[in-house]
Amino acid sequence: MYGETVARLIDELKALPGIGQRTAERLAFHLVQAPKERALALAQAIHDVKQNARPCRVCFTVSEQDPCALCTDSSRDRSLLCVVERPQDVLSLEKAGGYRGLYHVLLGTVSLLDGVTPKDLTLEALVQRVRKGGVREVILATNPTFDGDATSLYLKQALEPLKVKLTRLARGLPTGSSLEFASRAILTEALEGRHTY
Ligand SMILES: [Zn+2]
Repeated sequence: MYGETVARLIDELKALPGIGQRTAERLAFHLVQAPKERALALAQAIHDVKQNARPCRVCFTVSEQDPCALCTDSSRDRSLLCVVERPQDVLSLEKAGGYRGLYHVLLGTVSLLDGVTPKDLTLEALVQRVRKGGVREVILATNPTFDGDATSLYLKQALEPLKVKLTRLARGLPTGSSLEFASRAILTEALEGRHTY
């Protein structure tokens, strides 16, 4: 109805998380009507991010440096590892402030429903990091959801033989919520109140 190129743009937008048919159409028509330089600036930003940003080889957060600025920051406590689901969680915890250790991003959660197994995550790399030594405590900071809790159990099983202290964020975070949307105060509290897992 609108031509092949508009249909293709709608399809591409619809493939993004959280974007349904109607939102994809709204965004596509917005881009059709927008000044050419605005729309092309978006295309250029996507192009540049694909050229320059990638997961850090150590912690798997998104960075333009590899290893990332956090992993190479000598002022951070290297004996403390905070394991999170996604790069956004690193951002949330950094914004909350107070945490001075390093991170490990799993790039997802174990999910039986979606067929995601521990092999699909960066769990093996985490085990290797801890096995190398120098890590005193691993903070399991997966989201307080069904999949987040299941993932923490897998992590516990994988890390327990390595005799490292395992802690879990305090339950200040409401069940079913995510780190991404928690306030700074709640995140700081959850970190400070972490308990042995
Ligand atoms: Zn890193």
